Parts: sequence; C-alpha cells; structure tokens
Amino acid sequence: MRFSPVVHMGKLPLPWRLALLGGAILLMLAIPVGEIYHIIATTAQLTQSAAHLSRVGAAASAASQARVASLRESLYVEILLTALGALGVVVLLVALYGTIWRWLGSEQRFQQIIDASNNAIVLVERDGRIVEINRRAVEQFGYERAELLRMPVDQLLAPEHRLVAAARRARVLRDGEHCTSQLTAQRKNQRTFPVELTESRVELNRRRIVIAIFLDMTERQSAEERIRHLAYHDSLTGLPNRALFLDRLEQALRHAHRRDALAAVIFIDLDNFKAVNDTMGHEVGDQLLQAAALRIRAALRAEDTVARLGGDEFVVLTPEAQSPSDAAVVAQKIIQAMTEPFILAGQTFHITCSVGLSLYPRDGRDGGVLLGNADQAMYQAKQEGRNRLAFHTPQLHTTAVEHLHLANDLYAALKQEQLLLAYQPQVDLQSGKIISAEALVRWRHPTRGLVAPNVFIPLAEEKGLILELGNWVLRRVCEQIRRWQAAGVPVAPVAVNLSAVQCREETMFQAVHGILEDTGVAPHLLELELTESTLMTHTESIHARMVKIKNLGLHFALDDFGTGYSSLSYLPRFPIDTLKIDISFIRDMIDDPKDLAVVDTIVDLADNLQLRTVAEGVEKAEQVALLRLLGCQAMQGFYFSKPVGADELAAMLQSDRRLEVPAAAAPVLQAPA
Ligand code: C2E
Ligand code: MG
Ligand code: MG
Repeated sequence: MRFSPVVHMGKLPLPWRLALLGGAILLMLAIPVGEIYHIIATTAQLTQSAAHLSRVGAAASAASQARVASLRESLYVEILLTALGALGVVVLLVALYGTIWRWLGSEQRFQQIIDASNNAIVLVERDGRIVEINRRAVEQFGYERAELLRMPVDQLLAPEHRLVAAARRARVLRDGEHCTSQLTAQRKNQRTFPVELTESRVELNRRRIVIAIFLDMTERQSAEERIRHLAYHDSLTGLPNRALFLDRLEQALRHAHRRDALAAVIFIDLDNFKAVNDTMGHEVGDQLLQAAALRIRAALRAEDTVARLGGDEFVVLTPEAQSPSDAAVVAQKIIQAMTEPFILAGQTFHITCSVGLSLYPRDGRDGGVLLGNADQAMYQAKQEGRNRLAFHTPQLHTTAVEHLHLANDLYAALKQEQLLLAYQPQVDLQSGKIISAEALVRWRHPTRGLVAPNVFIPLAEEKGLILELGNWVLRRVCEQIRRWQAAGVPVAPVAVNLSAVQCREETMFQAVHGILEDTGVAPHLLELELTESTLMTHTESIHARMVKIKNLGLHFALDDFGTGYSSLSYLPRFPIDTLKIDISFIRDMIDDPKDLAVVDTIVDLADNLQLRTVAEGVEKAEQVALLRLLGCQAMQGFYFSKPVGADELAAMLQSDRRLEVPAAAAPVLQAPA
C-alpha cells in the first residue's frame, strides 16, 4: 500500500506542527505496543524501512518487507515524518530502537518462559504449521528446532489421531474454547507415547493462532496403572484381591446367565497355616502363602481366576464349569497340589487345605452370596476333618445363618448375664458319698431358651470370647464356693472345664491365681478339666503352666479320656490327678465287649499311674455295678443326678445324699481278664 503525504514539511506554522507532533505521540501511545513490535521484525529491517520512509517521505509499501501491516500504523508514521522532517526520522529511529531493545528483551523473556515449562509448547498457525516451540518440544519429539518450525503440527501425533486432532483445532480456532484431548503422540523415530493435548486460541497481532501444550502422560499412566494394580491385587502374592475377584465374578455370572452355563466358586483355607506362622514366624508364613499361591495358580487353567482374600484364604472362580462334578475335579486338583511338602527356610512342611464349593445358579445368583456359601462349605470341610472338599447345601446354609445369629447374640449373653452354671455331683463308688461336682455352663437365650455348651462353646472360641467366658465361669464358681462356705455347706471340690484356647494363653496361670486370690478360695477346692487334644498342641508351654498351677495346690482331670488320638506316653509327664472315662465307652460297655475292654484298660492304666478314674455319663444301675467291679473309683451321671442348681447341690451336700446300689441290680457279668 502506498500513501501520499498528507501535509508537507515547512508548509505548516509551528503551532500546527507541535499540535500534529503531540497528536502523533498520543496516537502512538494508543497503539498497542504489540502492534508496534509487529511492524518491525528485525533491527535491520527497521533501519531499512526507516531509511525508506525518510527517502520517500511516505509510509512503507507492502513490498518493503517492513511489515507495515496496517493503514493505521502507516498513517501514524507518515504523519510523524511529515510533521518532523529529518529531525522526525532521527527521533523516530531513537524511539523505535528503544522499542526494539524492549521487544528483543521481551521476546527473550517469552522464550525463557516457555522454555521453563516442562511440557512441550507449540504455537500453531491457522494452516496447522508450527511457528514457535519451546525446548521441551525439541527434546520430546526428537526433531531439530529448525525441522519443527514450519512442520505441520499433526505430524507430532500418531497417524490415527491426526484427523481428529485437526478437527478439534479447527473448532478451537473457530469458537475460541479450550480443548483437552488424550491422544497418542509420535516422535521422529516413530515411537509413540500418550499425551494430554491442551489447545487454546490466542490473538497475536490480529492473527489467530493456537497454543498447543503436550503433557507427556507416560509416567502418570504407569503410576496410575501401578495404583490400579495395588488397589486390585494382593501385595504379598500378586494375586487379585477380593475387590477384583468380585468384579470378575459378577462378569462371569452375567456371561453364565446369557449362556445358561454354570460357574463355580471354590473357597480354600490352608489347614495348618497358623501353626507354621506361630512357630516359624511371619517371614516363613509369608513364604508359605506365596508358595501356596503359586501352586494353586499352576493347578488351574488360564481362564480361572485365583484371588487371595486375606490371611490363608484363597478363592477360585471357574467360569466355564460344565457340571458340578467338573467343578469338583478342579477343587480336587487344588487339594492335590498341596500334598507335596513345602520346603521353606530349609525345613519341610506338610500343608493341607480345606475347600468349599458353591455353584451358580444352584447355590446363589449373586457373587457375594456364592462367595459366602463357598466359605460355609469350606467351614463344613474343616468340621469334617480338613484336607477335603465340601459342597454347599441349602441345609448347610440354614445352619450357617443360625450360627451367625447365635454368635452375635453371644456378645450380649456375656454382658447381660444370660449365662448360668449347673453343678453335677461326682460320687465315690465305694462309699456312695459326693466327692466333688462339675460346673457346667448354660446359656439362657432370651428367645431360644436354654442353649447347650456344646453349641456355644465352639462359637465363643471362634469369636474370641472364650477367655472372657472361661474367666467368668472360674470366678463364678469360686464366688459360689465362698457363698456355700459362708452358709455352712460342707463344700466339695468343684471341677471347671477349660477350653484349649484358655490353656494356650500365656496368662492362664495369672488368671487362675488372680481369681483364687480375689475370692480367697482354697486351691484344693478347685479342679481343672482339660482334654487330651489340648495337651497335644503346644505341649511344652502348657506343661509348664500346668506345673505352676499344680504347685498352687489345684487338681487336674483329663476329660473325655479315650477319645483323643494321642499316644499314652505323654500321660506320666503331666501333673494329672484324674482320668474321666468318656461317656461313649460307658454307654455301650454293657453291650459291647470292646468298650468294656477299653474301660477296663483305662482303669488299669490309671491304677498303674496312681490316677483316679471317674466314669462319665452313668445312667444305669448295671453300669454302676460293672464299674465297681472293674475298680473304677467314682462316677458322674444321670443315674445319681443331673446337673443341678447351686442351691440344690448345697441341699444334697448338707443332707449327705449318697449313691445307693441295689444289690439285685448288680449284673452277673465277668470282668474281662
Ligand atoms: P463334659 O465336660 O464332658 O461334661 C459332661 C457332659 O455330659 C455334660 O454335658 C453333662 O450334662 C453330660 N452328662 C452328665 N451325665 C450324663 C448322663 O448320664 N448322660 C448323658 N447323656 N449326659 C450326661 P453338658 O453340660 O451339655 O456339657 C457338654 C460339654 O460342654 C462339657 O462336656 C464340656 O466339655 C463343655 N462345657 C460345659 N461347661 C463348660 C465350661 O464352663 N467351659 C468349657 N470350656 N466347656 C464347658
Ligand atoms: Mg468336663
Ligand atoms: Mg467329659
């Protein structure tokens, strides 16, 4: 564009010139600084254009390359030159040089600012070509700076994303709204990486350009993947955890539903894990869990999911079981996988597992229900002797639900004093005198009535309530003895049953000792009943505790004797006073010679070891007579008395009620040789 001078130097009076100069300066100030920068690209161009301006006394033409881009800018310059003449050129040059310095400074600052960014920043022209980049862009995409400038920006993206990116950029240019997209970028060497691309429109010198910021997502994505992995996997074994298992289970159930197929949930619990963990320490315990996880995984097909639920519990999902027996085969494979001994920390461990199985849709349509049912079935497998498989059955389900309710109620039972004690006398078979009584706990349930200890003692053990319950019984018995004594009752020693869990506690001695001290009961009035299996686990520590308690003056009886699978060699080692012959032998000894032989052997053994024998569950006069004949010292059973309340026992003791054996009822049986 060419402009003819508006006014000519020298033709105007000075006031006009000054007014024009002032006006031009004001106008210049009004021009956005950026527009002045835009006029001149380089110092050389500036000089050239200024020279040209002064020579022609007019505004620069479009061909001057001085980028005198707008009519307005040209006009100012023209007015200025016209107004000031040669002096004006000098003033303008000085002013523009000053501006150039600032411009160069600000350009540098701009570059510094974008270079400081850790993200690749790319300025893109309307036609999609790159006009400016920062240092990070050079590093990130692997091109030289010169290669990048004027390159189509889409080339920085994976080919499949180029079209969509171009469309988005066009929208950004049109609407001026930010746009953020997750795309795949491509380096010069063709390697791709994930980016988050944010594009915004800016106006620079009246040109609309796009600032594109590439955020490299490689690290963030792998961190997210790590977090996702942690959230859905067990850190010890690397197996999926409960959350992921349930997720996969729901998917498998939807699939099975559509295809009318079966799906199996297999619940696995290691049988002897706790013993290994307790005796060998957690490190070996962890190694065992890892090894077990590997074995389970190796026993299954790739489409089966194995998860660790926590502790020593694993669960398997078999999504494509053809039949229940198919699922059982999978479960048996897992049991089989455990049979080889594990070698850990130079030692050999024989580990078995109990496995429970539930099937979709037979045992439930919901993942949580199927998992719960497989868990119950596993519990059943444990009850049936471990190292085996049990299927879920509806009846098992009802029992399990009741079990659960009862377990919850037991917490209240302890707090609300719903427990009570009955006492069953033991009588001497020779004199017929009451020589002691066994305290037996009962639970008066608010809706179910009296609940037997065989039902709730195992529950209390399972729920960790047995210590509280056991100590309650001990204290109650001691307090009762004191009350009887205060009432002048001729007190007999009382036997209290101890659970294996109580005996395993290090605090067992302190508990017994403390209660005796608190209540002031003489130790010989207390007898503790343990079972053979209690003695067979943690033998050493239990032995030590028993010796300490025995030294206080208490007695020990071995309950349900003859039912344990223990060797007899341990008997003399423990400070035991009495063997209680289990009810099962007494019940059948009249009809079954084998049971009679067992009773006879036990009485003999006890004799040799100088232990007392008490027959449990005696209901008939024939049993009494036979026991007498065999040389058994005492009996306990309905024949003499059922378990009774504290007052009733006191009355028996006070009246010195005795066992009578009608001579006619004595059986005409020969004791075995
Ligand atoms: P146990 O210690 O062997 O107790 C004897 C069980 O035999 C008692 O059952 C008693 O009522 C029953 N019994 C006694 N005489 C006869 C009889 O002539 N015929 C028959 N059929 N049964 C008779 P109970 O009271 O149901 O107790 C069952 C088991 O519960 C006890 O067996 C004992 O192991 C456990 N138990 C009871 N009280 C406690 C307690 O306070 N703590 C712990 N840990 N266990 C307890
Ligand atoms: Mg007992
Ligand atoms: Mg017993």
